Amino acid sequence: METLINGLHHVTAIAGKPQTNVDFYAGILGLRFIKKTVNFDAPDVYHLYYGDENGSPGSIMTFFPFGHIQRGRRGNGQMSYTAFSVPENSLGFWMERLKTFNITPEKPQQRFNEEFIRFDDNDGLGIELVATSNDTRPAWVSGSIPQEHAIRGFYTVALQEISGDRTIDLLTNQMQHRLVAEEGNRMRFEAGLGGAGAFVDIIGNPEEKRGLQGAGTVHHVAFGTNSDDTLLAIREILAEKGFDVTPLIDRQYFHSIYFREPGGILFEVATNPPGFTTDESKEALGTALKLPEWYEAKRDLIEQHLEPLEIRLL
Ligand code: ZN
Repeated sequence: METLINGLHHVTAIAGKPQTNVDFYAGILGLRFIKKTVNFDAPDVYHLYYGDENGSPGSIMTFFPFGHIQRGRRGNGQMSYTAFSVPENSLGFWMERLKTFNITPEKPQQRFNEEFIRFDDNDGLGIELVATSNDTRPAWVSGSIPQEHAIRGFYTVALQEISGDRTIDLLTNQMQHRLVAEEGNRMRFEAGLGGAGAFVDIIGNPEEKRGLQGAGTVHHVAFGTNSDDTLLAIREILAEKGFDVTPLIDRQYFHSIYFREPGGILFEVATNPPGFTTDESKEALGTALKLPEWYEAKRDLIEQHLEPLEIRLL
């Protein structure tokens, strides 16, 4: 069977102030700031991208920072935690580092025989760092974070559901995922070659309230696919099953389809090409405000509405 889904591609969340967001993800977590653009559906709002050196699929965290916007609430029908991977023996470094920025992680916990820490970003978005010896992806080295402790990319994401049954059916029967582990009310699936960046966890939590969208919540999670051909092939499979899937949409750095999974979370499938060097060099990633062609005529007006951002490496 042809591989149609490789694993995670990106996670997009809603944030408050853009500068606070940059300080957290580029400054404190040390991800590379790879693209400064606007929300293509609302160009008065930034769309900020972070990732590894190249913005590789499986490392890309993106935000719509709306400025003054009410906080959301974590709950069912949401992607509740985004987990990044760090090398083994790095959690002590991160506990100390986060505390120096007034972020207090919960004490380290074990899950699937792995240790992890959990904390919220400045808007209340749930983040985890999972310590693993099984991630060979190169780290982006930034600020005062030593290479041996730096974040490698995504590890897994947690989909929180009232009942995961229909989402499990979607992941395993249409989206080429397989069950790899189960612990308590958490089931772990993987796609493609598997491993860090290709996991998805489903947490069944019937007692929990439904989540509310707002700052500090995930807007959607995107899965990677190789090409327009594989994107259209997965689209066909989803449409046949009855999902209300959008047509292929050009997102400048990838081509996408969107649909809502049975538990209510917005899913996207995005192509790996063309990637983030399509409109600026690898060295220059994230340094200029990039606009798609159709907004270039309005650049002056768009820039007037956006506050200047400073990348402060900490
Ligand atoms: Zn997306």
